[in-house]
Amino acid sequence: MKLLIATRNPDKLAEMRALLNVPGLHVLCINDIPQAPEVEEDGFTFEENAVKKATVLARATGLWALADDSGLEVAALGGIPGVHSARYAGEPVKYSANNEKLIAALREEPDRRAQFRTVIALSSPAGAAKTVEGRCAGVIVEHARGQGGFGYDPLFQPEGYSQTFAEMSSELKNKISHRAHALARAKENWSALFSSDPVEW
Ligand code: IMP
Repeated sequence: MKLLIATRNPDKLAEMRALLNVPGLHVLCINDIPQAPEVEEDGFTFEENAVKKATVLARATGLWALADDSGLEVAALGGIPGVHSARYAGEPVKYSANNEKLIAALREEPDRRAQFRTVIALSSPAGAAKTVEGRCAGVIVEHARGQGGFGYDPLFQPEGYSQTFAEMSSELKNKISHRAHALARAKENWSALFSSDPVEW
C-alpha cells in the first residue's frame, strides 16, 4: 500500500517513517508529488486541521494520506497557544519570538503545567478519515534550556524528567513525545490496513 505523509518537515517525516515501518507499506511525502495542493490550517481544533490536510491531499492524489496537527497547551493560559502554536508571536514564524512571548506570559505564574498534543488523521482516497491522538504532559521552565529539537522544546520539561526536550537526545524525545504516542496508536489501530491494499475503510 502507498501512503502519502502530509508534511514538508524533514524531521517529522523521518520520525514518521521510522515509526511506520510496516512490511509492504510504501511511504511517500508531499515533495514526491508535484501536483499536491497547499492546505491552509484554518481549523479551530487540531482534529479539524489534521482531517482537512489528510482528506484534501488524499482526494487530490488518489492515495491514502496521513496528516498531523500539533501544538502546546498551557494550563494557566486556558490551553493557549494550542492550534495557534506556530504563530503565537505572529508572522514571520520565529521559534525564539514564540518562546519569549511564552516566558513573558508566565512570568510570576506558579502554575507551570502544560502538554503537547497532536492529532493524526488517516484518510482513504475517497476522503473518509479517522483520527488518533497523542499527548505528553510536563511543565514550562522559566528560562530556555538546550539546543536540540525545535519550537517550544527549550521551554518544555516532560513529566518525570529533569531535562527539557531540547536537552534530550532526539532518540529519547522520540520515545516519549506526543507524536510518538500518537504514531504508536496509529500503528496499533491501522497496521492491518497498512499491510493490505484496501480501496476503502
Ligand atoms: P504543526 O502545525 O503540527 O507543524 O506544529 C505547530 C507548532 O507547534 C510548531 O510550529 C511548534 O511551535 C509546536 N510544536 C509541535 N510539536 C512540537 C514539538 O515536538 N516540540 C516543540 N514544539 C512543537
